[in-house]
Amino acid sequence: RAMDIPTTPLPDGTPIPVLGAGTWGYAEDPGRRRDEIASLHAALDEGLTLVDTAEMYADGGAQELVGEALDGRRDEAFVVDKVLPSDASRRGTVEACERALRRLRTDRIDLYLLHWRGRYPLSETVEAFTELVDTGRIRRWGVSNLDVDEMQQLAGTAVATDQILYNLTRRGPEFDLLPWAAEQGLPVMAYSPIEQGRLLGDPTLREIADRHGATPAQVAIAWVLRRPGTIAIPKASTPARMAENRGALDVTLTDDDLATLDAAFPPPDRKRRLEIL
Ligand code: NDP
Repeated sequence: RAMDIPTTPLPDGTPIPVLGAGTWGYAEDPGRRRDEIASLHAALDEGLTLVDTAEMYADGGAQELVGEALDGRRDEAFVVDKVLPSDASRRGTVEACERALRRLRTDRIDLYLLHWRGRYPLSETVEAFTELVDTGRIRRWGVSNLDVDEMQQLAGTAVATDQILYNLTRRGPEFDLLPWAAEQGLPVMAYSPIEQGRLLGDPTLREIADRHGATPAQVAIAWVLRRPGTIAIPKASTPARMAENRGALDVTLTDDDLATLDAAFPPPDRKRRLEIL
């Protein structure tokens, strides 16, 4: 089934799946651990091989949980991890990566991101990322939560993606950031594609879901994925939900659906600062 997942190329040409699995909120409650690990196994089984984590999540606990889930299956996965801005100095970035590798029980991270912009100059973090690529500890690097002005500063570098808040209720990036990234051949990773669950009760989503015999979560994810070069990383904590979210790939929204959604969730008509969760 892994073959069924569409991919999009990274700037270096490597294809990555357009749908993956988030892990924010994992490893907070020991009572949920078994389900969370089972969810990641289900994700791999469903072909959702891109796993998104960060040192921030459960203070390293999510990285450890991912490491446990991927034990023996590391080669099936594409691991995305993030360094905290407070660690993102020249030296701190390298140290954070080494901690991450230990917790993830692996010898390399496929894509390592700066979680958001902090006090260290971007150039320092990029130098550290470059060293980590050169020594094979990360395959490539990117950023998260950077608006178009800051992305422009990175033009000409090896930046591989910008991971941003993008869903039906957060369409600001359509005005400038998404067109700019498309022009650069840069895929964008959309986080919180179902607005952390807040989108699920929306009546318009429900109506469109009913037309397709789908669920609101699937429609919200399918909507994000309608744009080429966009990767969605919904988070789910049960195998059943993981399979449901994978089903978003089977939902093709019609022009009619898209017009209905535009009326309920209008696209931006001016610049809005990039929002962050
Ligand atoms: P999502 O939009 O993915 O929503 C997750 C919530 O929706 C959870 O409460 C989950 O419940 C619920 N849910 C998921 N699938 C379904 C379903 N099919 N039916 C009903 N409920 C469902 O929000 P996130 O903020 O978690 O974003 C996804 C990922 O993006 C994060 O986990 C993280 O990896 C990344 N992220 C990155 C950020 C950054 O700054 N770079 C910021 C925020 C997120 P349950 O878990 O109980 O199953």
